[in-house]
Amino acid sequence: MPGSSHPKPRRFRSPAAVPAAALLPLLLLACSATPPRADPPPAPVVEVPAIRHPDGETPQWWYRSGAARAAANGAMQGRAKNVIVFLGDGMSLTTVAAARIFDGQRAGTPGEEHLLSWERFPHTAFSKTYNTDSQTPDSAGTMTAIATGVKSHMGAIGVSAGARWDCAGSRGRELLSWLRLAASSGMSTGIVTTARLTHATPAATYAHVPDRNWESDGVMPEKAREQGCRDIASQLLEFAPGTGLKVLLGGGRRHFLPAGERDPEHPDKEGARLDGRNLVQEWLQRNPGGAFAWNAAQFEAAADAPALLGLFEFEHMRYEHDRPRDPGGEPDLETMTREAIRRLSRDPGGFVLLVEGGRIDHANHEGNAYRALDETASMSRAVRAAAELTSPDDTLIVVTADHSHTLGFVGYPRRGNPILDKVRGRTSEDDDPDRYALDMLGLPYTTLVYANGPGYTGASSRQPAGPKRHFHAADSFEPAVGRPDLTAVDTTDPDYMQEALVPLSSESHGGDDVGIWARGPGSQAFRGTLEQHVIYHVIVQATPRLRERLCAAGTCNADGVPVELPAPADFGAAP
Ligand SMILES: [Zn+2]
Repeated sequence: MPGSSHPKPRRFRSPAAVPAAALLPLLLLACSATPPRADPPPAPVVEVPAIRHPDGETPQWWYRSGAARAAANGAMQGRAKNVIVFLGDGMSLTTVAAARIFDGQRAGTPGEEHLLSWERFPHTAFSKTYNTDSQTPDSAGTMTAIATGVKSHMGAIGVSAGARWDCAGSRGRELLSWLRLAASSGMSTGIVTTARLTHATPAATYAHVPDRNWESDGVMPEKAREQGCRDIASQLLEFAPGTGLKVLLGGGRRHFLPAGERDPEHPDKEGARLDGRNLVQEWLQRNPGGAFAWNAAQFEAAADAPALLGLFEFEHMRYEHDRPRDPGGEPDLETMTREAIRRLSRDPGGFVLLVEGGRIDHANHEGNAYRALDETASMSRAVRAAAELTSPDDTLIVVTADHSHTLGFVGYPRRGNPILDKVRGRTSEDDDPDRYALDMLGLPYTTLVYANGPGYTGASSRQPAGPKRHFHAADSFEPAVGRPDLTAVDTTDPDYMQEALVPLSSESHGGDDVGIWARGPGSQAFRGTLEQHVIYHVIVQATPRLRERLCAAGTCNADGVPVELPAPADFGAAP
């Protein structure tokens, strides 16, 4: 490694400022002090059979193709002890660019020059997000790709591609995630999310069902239960003894509590489980001395418990913007991330942690850019904390998104224009940059817009014609007539909903690429345009403990690269 075996290169002002003849002896001196550095060993080559798409895309092919790309990018040189994966759900590159300005402007700067915490990481790549059956993906199929190294169908949770409704067909197609793999390697594991713990992103790291909606038995089809599929929440408890998740923080009490049991925070609500099981009680039995917290005070009081389950909401946790109004109090994403790292980093053998900023996606779906940017800024604080609490010498941090959204960042706003404001600047290159730019109807417009969603400005079943206010659950729309006049509308208000071109009850995902930002051992393998499932392969190849566990199960080639599809049953999981 350059940092440890080779002296730090001297920083010269500029080659032109120092005569070359003066530089030469210095360079010779530097080089003679240590033996010449050997070139890194050539990256192992993994042969991938040529196939016809999509017919030839078997789970084995996806796995091997991902392994090949990760190895070619040098992931096998990584020596990570710990891995932290940050997943910004629905965090499109446009969301990142707008959130960067939003965050910078909150700090009193123009904003454009600002960077979110992960934008300072040294290595980046693009991620192609499509599902095996969909050009524009969902969060389940995408997280299955990220967590298991195999692309799958829209809605798939930890199983390879098949039909979403088909429980019987999904049996035997369970995939191994890096979280299960870490647990079976004896590493500590944890999940932090602002969404329900049973929601698609976290679920894909521990559960196996063909349909993401099967979060508890009460919401599963009868037939799927008869065919032996088990709900997502119950699978959270099914880690082999002694290998369970040590820290679980998020929302979603609904799927852990039995019907008839009132929610502690919202007494008008009750659990969704029809099998009578109380999974909170079962988790406490499996984790002697462990603590359960459903509010901020209990979370703080549980600091010394050896294991921690926090379920801070009946459904998803609150948006960061709405958190101060929560009856029981909720920790924010940074606080939860700090607590998870504090607990997991006690393990000398290393840890694997998933942290999801789960509600960036929801705010985008709801057509409310303010909350989407605010949630992204919140995740930036969590990533900054993780970078401060760990060392780039031993901890691989990967920040990515599962898929894009339709948020647009458009027009020619002048430098420093508030990102949520109307465009003050030019409609063409030679206009007055100090006035609101006007469209061809003579009306101002905002920098941020959505291509579709509930921000459509026609009259809806819930709100009159004109700009909409969050939260807007429309059942139907009437056609809009022209555009609303936003001259007197405060579009920077947190509840303002950006105009949407196409009326949809929920704004849709986008099919464009998302970013990968990485730091630490193996992170240099994140470069170029990567299929999303390559992320798994970089993680397992760059973490010796994960890689060796896969090799011990006979899934590696002669170069020690894990290339064969692992069976979860060989890793202590109970499919
Ligand atoms: Zn979504």
